[in-house]
Amino acid sequence: MNREVKEQILQKIKEYDRIMIFRHVRNDGDCVGATKGLKRIIQLTWPEKEVYLIDKDTSAYLAFLGPEDEPVEDALYADALGIVLDTASEARISNKNYKLCRELIKIDHHIPLEGYGSIQWVEEDRSSACEMVVDFYSTFRDELKIDSEAATYLYTGMVTDSGRFKYDGVTGDTLRNAAVLLDIGVDTQMLFARLYLEAYGYLKFKAHIYDRMQITENGVAYIYIDRAMQEEFSLSLEQASACVGCLDSIRGSICWMAFIENGDEAGSIRVRLRSRFVHINSVAEKYRGGGHACASGATVYSQEEVQSLLADADALVKEYKETHEDWL
Ligand code: AMP
Repeated sequence: MNREVKEQILQKIKEYDRIMIFRHVRNDGDCVGATKGLKRIIQLTWPEKEVYLIDKDTSAYLAFLGPEDEPVEDALYADALGIVLDTASEARISNKNYKLCRELIKIDHHIPLEGYGSIQWVEEDRSSACEMVVDFYSTFRDELKIDSEAATYLYTGMVTDSGRFKYDGVTGDTLRNAAVLLDIGVDTQMLFARLYLEAYGYLKFKAHIYDRMQITENGVAYIYIDRAMQEEFSLSLEQASACVGCLDSIRGSICWMAFIENGDEAGSIRVRLRSRFVHINSVAEKYRGGGHACASGATVYSQEEVQSLLADADALVKEYKETHEDWL
């Protein structure tokens, strides 16, 4: 699939001596895995090329994947090729120096809200950007080199963005691509332990979530996490945000979400929207967000907007339930 655009990307990588790799703000397993995985493949294949992955954002739960490169002088971007992975719009690219690159390539699996770059390879049906990088590797496997370090980065993103191969976007290709990585060598026991073991105190927080969760008339489950709750359980924003997963298995609740107060001056509230069967991205897009059909993000700035977003989601779920039979 998309062989032509992949050939163009390979050609560009060959042309440039210096390559800068970019990803989205508020990083996650997929954008970290895809960027580190692609960087490693390029370095193994062309050791003489300079490849930089510069991102000052870090995520504690992904720290085991290792640090990124130190910032370099702006001048070094000027004759470089930029490759942006897993990022739907320019506004979400974390390292703003992407603008300095001579040329930009977009590789993404989000619903395309905005195009950027001279070459765009977007497949919104892919379960992760990492899956696309593995597909890229497999397409040119006679030329490209990979090792178990790269495979581990890429498997991390495939596992985390697909909910351990559970979400709707998982296809036969997803598992075939994952199999390629397992054949190369991934210590899955260690990886799953690093990703999913939880501290005792965090389970106490989860108990609190289950105690406090609410549900709208038509079954939108939600939790509101204010600053006080974050302080009570000594949670980073990242840890607090992870609680959206707690609400994912309520029968009849085909949409669920978490509101997390960011604690900034603007009073912004992060919204993490999730769903099964019904597509929720249109609601996210109405509130400064976007993402995937069943996993999107948004930002609101007041309790009125919280209520309004919940009402929109509730109406969407109501309509879906009235017009469909096969949901649980
Ligand atoms: P999150 O709940 O923040 O993990 O977001 C779920 C998915 O939606 C991720 O793939 C994000 O990259 C994506 N996403 C979150 N916020 C936005 C946004 N404002 N625009 C486009 N995509 C987003």
